[in-house]
Amino acid sequence: MSNRNPFECFTWKSDVFSCESNDIDTFYERLAEQVSRLGLQERKLGETGDYPINFYQSPAQKSGQPSILISAGFHGEEAAGPWGMLYFLNELEPELFSQLNLSLLPLVNPTGFKKGHRFNKSGQNPNRGFVLENGRGKTDDASTEGKLLIEHSQLLQAASKNGILTCHEDVLQKHTYIYSFEANQTPGKFSRNLRDALGHYFPIAENGLIDDCPIEDGIIFNHFDTSFEAFLVRLGASVGVCSETPALQGLDQRIMANAAVMKRFVELTLENS
Ligand SMILES: [Zn+2]
Repeated sequence: MSNRNPFECFTWKSDVFSCESNDIDTFYERLAEQVSRLGLQERKLGETGDYPINFYQSPAQKSGQPSILISAGFHGEEAAGPWGMLYFLNELEPELFSQLNLSLLPLVNPTGFKKGHRFNKSGQNPNRGFVLENGRGKTDDASTEGKLLIEHSQLLQAASKNGILTCHEDVLQKHTYIYSFEANQTPGKFSRNLRDALGHYFPIAENGLIDDCPIEDGIIFNHFDTSFEAFLVRLGASVGVCSETPALQGLDQRIMANAAVMKRFVELTLENS
């Protein structure tokens, strides 16, 4: 991800939501409607700029059910993740919560989202600096947002026990791909199914290198760096996927692809439990 300009601004118009991709006020309004409809519990982890970093959970988390976490909006120009989560929530029925403990981080980097640029307003990368030392998160190298997440490691570890899906985009691509983590030598059903959920919307990236990582059949497999997703897998999440939708394609198509990969993630979790 070294060749992306962290302050280049990207915005697109969404016909689905009738607003610009960086319309943060509309985003929060529509999110609040869904939080209320679904009875999600809101927890403010902290603040960045004038915005909260909120964490949401399905009501009454039950010990016998699988627990998964879906996150979006780490990079401000990757707008289809947060909007895709909203689209996903619009279609969700609260009955699901009798089978699954769902946790959400809908918009981790609001200051970047509002500007439409990658990093936060202080020029930090919110998806780097997640370091584990002696089994505990170390905040020294983390962004403002990252520090807040690391400070809530125990909460996020429990929330992602059965999987973490984090939704990113790649502004340089017309093709889709994923990073995935599974306790296997090769990508299993989980990775392949989520890749295919995206492949329904976009062509899958060719074999080769993306950001210096070897990619095969649209999957960069078990690549451990200091990202949030790798951090949660190190903390015990049984699977991890970072989806990458291609931002050279239309925004609404990307929004629907993000909603579809979230929906598939839920379905696969239920099938495996
Ligand atoms: Zn990203």
